[in-house]
Amino acid sequence: MQRIEKMGVWEKLYFPEVLRGLWVTGFRFWRNLFIHTLHLLGLANSLQAAMTVQYPEQRIPYPETFRGRHRLTLKDDGSIRCTACFLCATACPAECIYIQAGEYPDNPVEKFPLRYEIDTLRCIYCGFCVEACPCDAIRMDTGTHPGNLGFSRKDFVEDKTILTERSEELEAKGKEKLYEEYVSRYRRV
Ligand code: SF4
Ligand code: SF4
Repeated sequence: MQRIEKMGVWEKLYFPEVLRGLWVTGFRFWRNLFIHTLHLLGLANSLQAAMTVQYPEQRIPYPETFRGRHRLTLKDDGSIRCTACFLCATACPAECIYIQAGEYPDNPVEKFPLRYEIDTLRCIYCGFCVEACPCDAIRMDTGTHPGNLGFSRKDFVEDKTILTERSEELEAKGKEKLYEEYVSRYRRV
């Protein structure tokens, strides 16, 4: 059974805790200021002080392991690579991939997704769908920001059109330009 911690008399007074919080904040502030001043003078370079990244003007590179937004890849002829095998949906721990398979009239073996949807509000960006896919048909590219925006649940459901257009857009513009377009919405005017 979970033990519930009770507040002591000292904590119930609140004021000492407020003072303690102010002391911690003040200590961090003056410590950082002191160390940054020493760095400016070329001293104590082995000591680390907190840095604030002025995003989006400054950027920290994404780690190589970063998983960006999903996209469905295309073949050279522009057709969808996905064969609606359901392996990604089966591997997905969040059960947020919905696929409806369709059949080609001239190909009795291979299928394609009539519908392919990812509910990104349920997605945990684990990348299992990418690992499960035998056709390299779904990717989460390093360096492409998820950038999900919307006002209702359905705004966060990415369908086949969105997911395939993303591949075309990435091919046409490249990661850097896409990222610049994304952060430009947040830049100060
Ligand atoms: S990243 Fe993980 S949770 Fe998201 S769709 Fe893929 S398998 Fe599901
Ligand atoms: S994306 Fe890959 S794993 Fe998912 S249904 Fe299509 S081919 Fe199968």
